[in-house]
Amino acid sequence: MESIWKESLARYRRSAVVAKLVIILVILLVALTATPAEAAPGQRASTDAPVLNIGHRGASGYAPEHTIPSYDLALKQGADYIEIDLQMTADGVLVAMHDDTLNRTARGPAENCTGLVIEKTLEQIKTCDVGSWFNETYPQYANPDYVGLQIPTLEEIFQRYRHSVNYYIETKNPEEAPGIEEELLRLMEEYNLLKPAAKHWQVLIQSFSAESLQKLHALEPSLPLVQLYSGRETSETIQANLASASTYAVGIGPSKSDVDADLIAAAHELCLDVHPYTVNDAQEMKALEAIS
Ligand code: CA
Repeated sequence: MESIWKESLARYRRSAVVAKLVIILVILLVALTATPAEAAPGQRASTDAPVLNIGHRGASGYAPEHTIPSYDLALKQGADYIEIDLQMTADGVLVAMHDDTLNRTARGPAENCTGLVIEKTLEQIKTCDVGSWFNETYPQYANPDYVGLQIPTLEEIFQRYRHSVNYYIETKNPEEAPGIEEELLRLMEEYNLLKPAAKHWQVLIQSFSAESLQKLHALEPSLPLVQLYSGRETSETIQANLASASTYAVGIGPSKSDVDADLIAAAHELCLDVHPYTVNDAQEMKALEAIS
C-alpha cells in the first residue's frame, strides 16, 4: 500500500493539491511524506514534497474561515501552508477575508459589518464577529469559543506565526484596492519574509489577476507567484495562457475540473507547478494524482 502510494506521489511530483483539510487526507499525507511527527508546522520541507496540503482559509470545513482558530486547527491537522485571502480596508490595512463584502461572514453593527470591506476602516472592521455565522451555518461543528472572533489583519497573522509556518496568500480584488501589492510587500519585508519566500517558498502569492501578479513580479522578481484560473476556463484556454504566466509565475492554480494530462504536461514543460483547487477528500486527491 505504502509503495503504491509513494509511486503515485512520485509521478505527481511538482504538482500539489489544494485541500480544505479533511482529517483522513491529512493523515495520509503526513504518513506518506514521512514527516516526523514532532516537526513543527511549516518546518517540513514542504516545497520538496510531491503533494502539498494547503489549509484553505485555514481549516475552514471545521472552524470559521480566516480566523486564528481556523489557521491554528489547519496547522494542527498537518497543513503545509495556511491560505490567506487579502482584502484592504478604507484606511489601507490588509485583513484576512474571502469575500469583498462583510455580509456573509460578519455579524455586528450594520454600519460596520455589512457592505464592502474597502469602504470600512479597520476600527469598524474590528467590531465585527466572524465566528457566529459559522455556528449558525454548521451546527455540527459549532463551538461557543467561536462567538466574537475578530477579523485578523495580515500583520496580526505574521506576528502570531512569524517564520514557523508557510503562507499561501491571495490578493483579492486588486483592481479595487490600489496599493494592495505594495502593502503586502511592505509587511513581508517588515517581518523578514521576503528572503524565505524567494529561497524556499515560505510565502507563495496567488491571484486570479495577472496584472496584480505582474506588478508583484516587477517589484520583487524573486517572489514565487501562482496564477489562478477561474472555473470558466478550460484545459485548452489555460494551456494557451501558460507561456505568458511562465514569464512571472512559478505555478498555476486551475479549478480541479480543468486538470487533465495535457495541462499537467504543458505546465511542467514550462516548469510550472500545478496547484488545483479545491480538493476536499482523499478520493478526489487520488484521482488528481493519477493524472500525469
Ligand atoms: Ca483563496
